[in-house]
Amino acid sequence: MKNLLHLIAIIALTIVTQIGGVVYVVTLITLQQVKSKSILKGSSLFIFLYFITTFLVTPILAPIFGREKIKETEFLEAHSFFYKLANRDYVKPELQQLLDNTSKAYAKSNKNIKLIHLDASFPFFDKFPLLPHLSHNDGKKIDISLIHQDDNAALTNRKKSVSGYGVFENSQLREYNQNLACQKRGFWQYDFPKYLSFGTINDDIIFSNSGTKNLISEILKDNNLSKLFIEPHLKSRLNLSNNKIRFHGCRAVRHDDHIHIQVK
Ligand SMILES: [Zn+2]
Repeated sequence: MKNLLHLIAIIALTIVTQIGGVVYVVTLITLQQVKSKSILKGSSLFIFLYFITTFLVTPILAPIFGREKIKETEFLEAHSFFYKLANRDYVKPELQQLLDNTSKAYAKSNKNIKLIHLDASFPFFDKFPLLPHLSHNDGKKIDISLIHQDDNAALTNRKKSVSGYGVFENSQLREYNQNLACQKRGFWQYDFPKYLSFGTINDDIIFSNSGTKNLISEILKDNNLSKLFIEPHLKSRLNLSNNKIRFHGCRAVRHDDHIHIQVK
């Protein structure tokens, strides 16, 4: 029973953080060697080793795999500490460059408004999936938060979802409802992110058409961009026509809670 729980912990930590499972195994071996059965000592050692590995060791090793931990700036940051803690913020240098350039340019015309990112990739190994995403496995992809505005129509850095996912800017009456179309074709998973929001916050803010459109326009200027995914009703509402903006297909999940971009 105890071994089964350890196994579940190792698998869960590997799925969520990539390196957590290995750190867990190292912790178990160390405890065995010093013949300690204390849960408190075990947990403390795991947390200590996990922080050292995540914030000191992994950022040094990741470049061997062609990736780097996103460098935050006054214009660019993760939606929450979770993304950094769980090693879900690794990208290829070209993508870091795109994020840097875009966030700086965007802040120039939208003072104090940041580019806020969600899941990117893990630090090691191509094809190692970053669940629940299908394609975030090579350092070339990242999800970016939509832009919102407050009661006074001023842009804000606040978002509507605790996790950053799962609170949608739904299609309006006359707009094409891609979600419904995919559901009708049997792709039940298309609006699965609704279970991943971990709660709705900031009810006083709303989606900003112009703020989001300007951010996308800024992203499209980067020559390294290969594709950008956003839900079809938002593409037409924001009057976007660039051929790098594609529909991701019903096998993916809906993209009216975030923007997905990838570099060549
Ligand atoms: Zn994505």
